[in-house]
Amino acid sequence: MTTVDLGDFGDGTRVVHGGHPEPEAGAPLLPGPVFAAPYHLGDSGPSGDFYGRAGNPTWRGLESAIGELDGGRCVLLPSGMAAISTVLRSVLRTGDKLVLPSDGYYASRQFVGDELTELGLDVREIPTPGPWTDEVFEGARLVLLETPSNPGGDVCDIAELAERAHAAGALLAVDNTTATPLGQRPLELGADIVIASDTKALSGHSDILLGHVSVRDEELANRLLRARALSGAIPGPFETWLAHRSMGTLDLRLSRQAENAAALVDALADHPAVTGLRWPGWSQDPAHELASRQMRRFGGVFRFELADADAVQAFIAKSRLVVAATSFGGLHSTADRRAQWGDPVPEGFVRFSAGCENPDDLVQDVLRALS
Ligand SMILES: *Cc1c(COP(=O)(O)O)cnc(C)c1O
Repeated sequence: MTTVDLGDFGDGTRVVHGGHPEPEAGAPLLPGPVFAAPYHLGDSGPSGDFYGRAGNPTWRGLESAIGELDGGRCVLLPSGMAAISTVLRSVLRTGDKLVLPSDGYYASRQFVGDELTELGLDVREIPTPGPWTDEVFEGARLVLLETPSNPGGDVCDIAELAERAHAAGALLAVDNTTATPLGQRPLELGADIVIASDTKALSGHSDILLGHVSVRDEELANRLLRARALSGAIPGPFETWLAHRSMGTLDLRLSRQAENAAALVDALADHPAVTGLRWPGWSQDPAHELASRQMRRFGGVFRFELADADAVQAFIAKSRLVVAATSFGGLHSTADRRAQWGDPVPEGFVRFSAGCENPDDLVQDVLRALS
C-alpha cells in the first residue's frame, strides 16, 4: 500500500505516512473506511477483493503501515486476545510444549488453561526475568515472551532467548504490546512472531479494541490469514480506520507519555508512601541496562506500590487527573490496582499509565493526591 520506501525515515515520518496511498489529483488526501461486504461480484478486479471477511483495502492500509514498522507481514485481528489465541491455535498441536510468562497478561494464561485443554499441552510458566534454564526450552514448540511485562515491567533478552529457542527447535513469539513497534522490534532481534494489543498505545485513545500479529515467514502469515478468514473473528473497518488515523500521532504521544513517566518516576523515587517503583526507562531500574540495549525508546507505563488497597483508592479519589481504569497507553493518565483482577501482585500494586497531559500538572496532581 505504501508507495514510498519509508525505511530511512524517522519514527514521526513513518507513522504519518505509513500505509497511505500515493496522493492523486482530485482524489481525497486520505481514504475513508471501506464498509462494503461484497466487492465486485463475479469479478474481483485488480485488488483481488471479493468479500470483506477475506480482505479489504482498509485492513491492508494499516497492515502495510504496522508491518513496515515491525519488519514483517502484519495480520490484523479484532483484539490483542484474538491475536494471541489465533497464534496459539495456528501453531500448537496436540501434546506440544508451550512456555508462557507467569507474570504477563493474565488472559493469555487463562485462555490456555480454559480453552486449549483438548490439546493436552505441556504448559510451563516462567517469570520474565527467568531463570531461563536449558530445560525450559527442551522439546518446546512455542515460547511466548512478554517484555516489558504487563503489569510488572520486567524485561528479558529477546535475542538471546530467540537463539536458544531456535536451537531447541521452538518458535519464539513476543507480546510487544507495552513497547509498540516504535519501542521495540522483536523480529529484528530474532523473534519469529510479534503479537500486540493495539487497543493500548498504538491506537492510544482508549476508544477501540484491536490487535495484530507480524511474522517474517510467508507460510505462517498465510496460515494466520486463513485462520482469520475462516474463524470469522475479523476487525471492523471503522476500528481499523480509526487505529490508522490514531497511529499518525504515535511518535508524538509516546514522547509525551515517556516524558511524563520520567517526571513522575523522578518525583516518586524518594516518596515515603511509595515502594517497588519500576520503569524500564529509569536509570536505577534493575532492567534498565538490558531494556536500553534492546529497546529503541520507552513508553509511559510504570508501576509502584502503596500500603494497601485503601491507600490506592484514596490516591485515585484525591487526584483530579488520574482515573481508575484498566487498559493503558491512552491520552489520559490512568491507574489500575492489579490485585483486583487477580494478578499475582500485592494489594497496593498500581500500574500507572502516564498520558499526554502537561508534566507539571501531572506531577503536582499526583504528589497532592498522595499527601
Ligand atoms: C491488553 C493486553 C492484551 C489483550 O489485548 P486486548 O486488546 O484487550 O484483547 C494482551 N497482551 C498484553 C500485554 C496486554 O496488555
